[in-house]
Amino acid sequence: MKKFEIPEKYKSSVIATVKDWRKRRDPRKQDVSPSSLDFGPVEFILPRHFGFCYGVENAIEISYKAINENPDKRIFLLSQMIHNPAVNEDLEAAGIRFIMDTEGHQFIDWSEITSEDVVIIPAFGTTIEIEEKLKSLGVETKKYNTTCPFVEKVWKRSAEIGQKGYTNIIHGKYKHEETRATFSHSNQHSASIIVRDMKEAQKLAGYITGDSPADSFYEVFKGKYSEGFQVESDLKKIGVVNQTTMLATETQEIADFFKGVVTNKYGPDAFADTRDTLCYATNDNQDATNAVRSVGADLAIVIGGYNSSNTSQLVTILEETMPVYFIKDQNEIIDRNTIRHFNYGQNQLITSFGWLPIKAKVRIVLTSGASCPDTVVESVLEQILGTFENTHEIESVLTQLIQE
Ligand code: SF4
Repeated sequence: MKKFEIPEKYKSSVIATVKDWRKRRDPRKQDVSPSSLDFGPVEFILPRHFGFCYGVENAIEISYKAINENPDKRIFLLSQMIHNPAVNEDLEAAGIRFIMDTEGHQFIDWSEITSEDVVIIPAFGTTIEIEEKLKSLGVETKKYNTTCPFVEKVWKRSAEIGQKGYTNIIHGKYKHEETRATFSHSNQHSASIIVRDMKEAQKLAGYITGDSPADSFYEVFKGKYSEGFQVESDLKKIGVVNQTTMLATETQEIADFFKGVVTNKYGPDAFADTRDTLCYATNDNQDATNAVRSVGADLAIVIGGYNSSNTSQLVTILEETMPVYFIKDQNEIIDRNTIRHFNYGQNQLITSFGWLPIKAKVRIVLTSGASCPDTVVESVLEQILGTFENTHEIESVLTQLIQE
């Protein structure tokens, strides 16, 4: 896979040693078992895959290129480039300004943007409407477009489904930038609707079977269907695409569910049989995370932005088998007894006490989302190590690992 130029501040020699060692031993990524860093009183279990993905490194490289190539211009990002606070803060510190927040609320009015400005399109991509707006302002939209190729692949798939006369059901979070962008692209070719989860899928199924009164559809799915959507005719032939970072098992369940419902009612040609559109990083990271569920760890630390979809899926997978603390960086670890972390279900930051068990050896799964720099993972590891006494030196643990 292509190598990108990313700032040194995001590279960790500790994490690179582990990842490079795994890559050398298993270049074809066939072994998803985790790696272990055993420091004596605490052992860290690192899944086979975590951290920066192709799309994130590509976006970071292009953004810094935009900064370096345009010292005299104003540089804007449509919204957060990726869902990681540290990376976004670094871009802001380098002079980049965000035009809107992650839900599309404007910080900067379009009237302030001129054809002299540089506007970077984030890794999630953007809607056709926003791209048209930028063009109408005379802004160059191709040069610093960091849209991930795996997101564009979803747009292509939705176009194929739409051109064959199927309505696109998008499994995604309807406020997420990527899903809004996919929805907009999908609308060019077909009627489209977004479902968040199985609960919403079941609600939508009621309109396919006719169990739910058609006129209630427009209120129940308000803001989630394309303009002109006809509930009586647009749910007779359907296909499913998804936001690239959804939970693989849920996405499969939803596609299977819709296939069953619509083919029952309208026959086998009523469902466009496509594979899911999750990206390689989501699949790799979720497979590797599934592989650590049975290692018998005391807890897991998952690091990433609190609005990061792919990171939240790792939390969901791990919390079925162990206590999970979702943190953005090392500063959330206050001390051996206290940790501040994000409760994804309740959508709030909470503080927990007694998070590290008292025992001879504590085993911790340590992982991060696709937009989290490895340096943050290293800092968290060091922060936790600092709460234990008589631990082995990092160098000697790494030396022992790569000699195995
Ligand atoms: S998570 Fe997947 S789709 Fe998103 S930027 Fe990374 S590689 Fe691209």
